[in-house]
Amino acid sequence: MPDKKLVLVVEDEPAIVRFLRTSLQDNGFDVLEAATAARALELAAAKKPDVVLLDLGLPDMDGLIALKRLRQWSSAPVIILSARGQEGDKISALDSGADDYLTKPFGVAELMARLRVALRHAEKAGRPRDPVYEHAGLKVDLAARRVWMKKKEVHLSPLQYDLLAALAANAGRVVGQKQLLKEVWKDSPDATPESVRFVVHQLRHKIEADPVQPKHLKTEPGVGYRLESD
Ligand code: CA
Repeated sequence: MPDKKLVLVVEDEPAIVRFLRTSLQDNGFDVLEAATAARALELAAAKKPDVVLLDLGLPDMDGLIALKRLRQWSSAPVIILSARGQEGDKISALDSGADDYLTKPFGVAELMARLRVALRHAEKAGRPRDPVYEHAGLKVDLAARRVWMKKKEVHLSPLQYDLLAALAANAGRVVGQKQLLKEVWKDSPDATPESVRFVVHQLRHKIEADPVQPKHLKTEPGVGYRLESD
């Protein structure tokens, strides 16, 4: 048996805490709970959880401030638990070092998928990343800078490739507009979120069977984009 992973649940809503505790324990995780940011920081320092689920609306401190404090000394992946309509908060959270977010209400399958990605990403951090992304017929070789769809090579412009590569390097995780503008457009003053949307649109026509209902390159409304992974 591999060691159980320890999840720190930071949430003040008892019903959500119960749901998370049950779901996580049923799926083989150990669970720590904190209903305030102060307690969360204390527990994170003392117990060194493998991953943190962080509600942004806590009674004693803005979750974003708690996140920034945590990030000063912890590299544990943090998944934000946010309410609908908090797009601005999600963006700030990603900019402040969160790894991903879940929008309430969410189901067990979605929670587990996000946790797996966050843990896998944390395990890989500091090691050379896997140079090949593969999912449902789409293959991106980041070393060779080549792309295939169902074994047929896809030819992309340099910008299209750079955008796809930035998403593939973070497969399964949301990548914010701001991060894409920085990584792909090198913060060029001419680049805007519209530039990102335009290249995403072009890419979908090349890598999706149905560009209107993408299976690979998903939009996270108001936040950014996610390349699906297994
Ligand atoms: Ca709350």
